[in-house]
Amino acid sequence: MDASLDDVLGEIALVDQHCHGVWNQPLTRAAFESGITESADPPPAGTTAFDSQLGASVRRWCAPVLDLPPHANPDEYVERRARLGADEVNRRFLTQCGLAAMLVDSGFRTGELVGLRELGDLAGAPAREIVRLETVAEGLVSAGAGPAELVAGFPSALAEATRDAVAVKSIAAYRGGLDIAGERPAESEVVAVVARWLAVGGEVAPRLDNPVLLRFLLWCAVDRRLPVQLHCGFGDPDLTLYRSDPSRLTDFLRAIQPLGVPVVLLHNYPYHRQAAYLAQVFPQVYLDLGLALGYVGAGAKTVVAETLELAPYHKLLYSSDGFGLAELHYLGALRFRQALGAVLAHQVAEEELVAADAERIARLVGADNARRLYRL
Ligand SMILES: [Zn+2]
Repeated sequence: MDASLDDVLGEIALVDQHCHGVWNQPLTRAAFESGITESADPPPAGTTAFDSQLGASVRRWCAPVLDLPPHANPDEYVERRARLGADEVNRRFLTQCGLAAMLVDSGFRTGELVGLRELGDLAGAPAREIVRLETVAEGLVSAGAGPAELVAGFPSALAEATRDAVAVKSIAAYRGGLDIAGERPAESEVVAVVARWLAVGGEVAPRLDNPVLLRFLLWCAVDRRLPVQLHCGFGDPDLTLYRSDPSRLTDFLRAIQPLGVPVVLLHNYPYHRQAAYLAQVFPQVYLDLGLALGYVGAGAKTVVAETLELAPYHKLLYSSDGFGLAELHYLGALRFRQALGAVLAHQVAEEELVAADAERIARLVGADNARRLYRL
């Protein structure tokens, strides 16, 4: 890689525009392995979750952070991690991310993760909150709201929940998919579907998967005028992959375009080319490759190159989507720096870009696009 570009990428304090907290308790070998796969099932007998791009990346790149040689075997790795203790491990990986800020999704399994302030302290960077729409709605239902109260009360509950937040997030991809109609649903229609939905649940608050209600939440989010992050592409087995293709959002994106509220397509793999297209044609659409770059490991360069075929340089953002294991935050930053550096260096070598432009692009994608978008 071009030496100065390498330096620039190494030195950029990244804005991790979507991540989660980390586990700060001792982990069993099985718990650690569950953190490096999207599968809910154990690997076949005689193999481990380390048998993957991500597992190999942990051995290659994370082992030295814990004072082990590169490619340390899984037993040594997990043993060393336990000996150092979760706090020391988290501090090492998070400080080495080199972050200027982290934006944290506070709506998923938060009870088992460190809080916002502690995460920021571990990383040495301010942590700001991203609020999940579905979590706010489910909270109202748990507190006893009926259909009319839910619909009437959601906007103010969202305003309250997002007082200090920088963005909201939707997991509609998990709850029925991204085929979201363009029109704003009428309140009477939403009340009617919520009544039917709540009737199914009985004593327990039912899972929020009604497409009309999900669409209502998204329109309320647009009214709130904070950037809306949407899960797109792969994830855990709760997801039906083909329904998470971001190009399914086209009608909705078209409908909200005049309102000018930014939409950020998260993760996107293997639909990162679709997301890049949407980011090019819709002025309000941004994208990242969080989760993906850590998981594809040595393939990260290809994914970044394919994304930058169409994504404008002012639309791509950095995130790790790290969850639970601080290794994921660290590998997200590492793969991002490696991959973007390699792609840009190649373009400089081919005389498609001059070095100064490549450096500017690296700064835009690594931090400045996020600063502009979230007004950090
Ligand atoms: Zn996430």
